[in-house]
This record gives sequence, structure tokens and C-alpha cells, in this order.
Amino acid sequence: MPKLQNVEYHILSDGVAWVDGGGAFGLVPRTIWAELFPPDERNRIPFGLNCVLIRSEGQTILVDTGYGTKLDEKARQRTGLERPDGDLSEALSRLGVTVEEVDIVINTHLHADHCGGNTIYQGGSLVPTFPNAQYLIQRLEWADAIAPNERTRATYLPENYRPLEGSGQLKLINGPTRVTGEVRTAIARGHTRAHQLVIVESGGETVLFVADMTSLHYHFERLAWVASYDVEPLESIETKRYWQQWAVERDALIIFQHDTQIPFGKLRLDGANFKVKPVSIG
Ligand SMILES: [Zn+2]
Repeated sequence: MPKLQNVEYHILSDGVAWVDGGGAFGLVPRTIWAELFPPDERNRIPFGLNCVLIRSEGQTILVDTGYGTKLDEKARQRTGLERPDGDLSEALSRLGVTVEEVDIVINTHLHADHCGGNTIYQGGSLVPTFPNAQYLIQRLEWADAIAPNERTRATYLPENYRPLEGSGQLKLINGPTRVTGEVRTAIARGHTRAHQLVIVESGGETVLFVADMTSLHYHFERLAWVASYDVEPLESIETKRYWQQWAVERDALIIFQHDTQIPFGKLRLDGANFKVKPVSIG
């Protein structure tokens, strides 16, 4: 089981979504990215929907909740959602974790593929999936999500986060936040204005969950490769410039949320270039 000194962590998959390669690679010409990540006949590439379960200081912490179970057939078709090993709830039960046992949910941001599993339909009403959890969401992300504009509306779906208010489980946080002595969040602006990362530090080792700061490892190696989804692409570049250095200095184990080629890796400086080396986790 993956473990730092005092902290246990697990990748939990909510399945795979097939996304348009142009969305993932932005301005990068298809002739270049398609060689590294060959798309299917509809120009789509598989995006993993990795969430992370962390146990630290007696707290059970879930980072992001995937697409969840509320998508109708049309939305499932559009996202190309595939779940050969089941969804997030099945991944949790394979670990022996019940929804009641989750103490804290951290949403890196409120795009539908990161918080869809926050809520479920139960007996016809919409309720939080994790009845005892506090949901940690950045205040600015919340503000953007509850008042989306023409560009962000399609992915900010109120049913994924509005019910948390009524149940008293919403905890808005403002900037970098310590969750336990070993787990903290940090702001990585660009993909959204208040997109947050999750960092685990224990016994001199570091795990960095990069979420959509760098959806695929290619985006971490190359500053100019920025997804079309990022609302502030020039900020994304400066954000990545900082975190590249940070990850190399700490020899951090990086968890890539959407990368089906390299879910775990370490960033290395190879001459003048950054390169992600895959790491296999037992
Ligand atoms: Zn995403």
C-alpha cells in the first residue's frame, strides 16, 4: 500500500472519459501531440478520472470525486465515460471505506469531472454523497462556479455543489490551507482562478497531486503546452514554471489526475529540459 511515514494514500479511479485531443492540447498542432498520444478515429484521447484517498492523523480525506452518477445518457455519450472497474464508490468499497467514513472532501476546483460525485440522488432528492464530510472548496472557485459565464457554464453544474450549502457541509477556504499536519492545499492559478493542488508531506517525502494544473505529464514538461480549458493560459505558464522547480527540488512524487500513460511520476531536469519519469507504486 502506498505510504509515506505516517500517511497512507491511494488512487481511486472513477473511470475514463474520452475527450477531444484539441481540448487537452490547446494550441499545440495535432501533428505534434498525436505522435505522443495517438487519438482514436474521432480525435479523442482517454482521460483518467483519478481521485485520491488520504489517511492522515485519523482523518479520511478524499480529493475530488470524478463525474459521479448523475449524468444522463446523453451526457455519458458526450463524455465517452467508461468504467470497466466500476465508479468511485466501488473503488472506495474495494478499500473497505464507506461513504460515512469520509471526513473531508477536497475539491481541487468545481469542473464537472472533479466534483460530480459530491452529490447523489437519493429517493428522488439530491444529497451530499458523503454525509459526514466537510467539503473544502476555495472561496473564489465557489464565486466563479455559482455565477458562471458563457464559457464556463457547461462545466459548472450547480447540482454538484449547491446541495452542500443546505446540508451545512460546505467549508469555504481562502487560499493555501492546512488540512492536517501532513496534508495541505496550495493555489495553482490558471486552469481556474482559484484552482488548488494537494500536497502530502511526511518523513521528508512529498506527494503532489497536480489536478488540472497539468492534466497530462506532457503539460508539466513543456510550459507552452496549455489545455484549451484553462481560463487564464498565461497564468498557467507562470504557475507551472514555479511548480516545476518546486517538484524537482523536493523530488516530489507527482500524481497526474487525467494521465492514462503516466499516473505516477517524478519530474527531472534533463539538461535544459524537464522530463517526467514514470514511477511504479506497489
Ligand atoms: Zn479535469
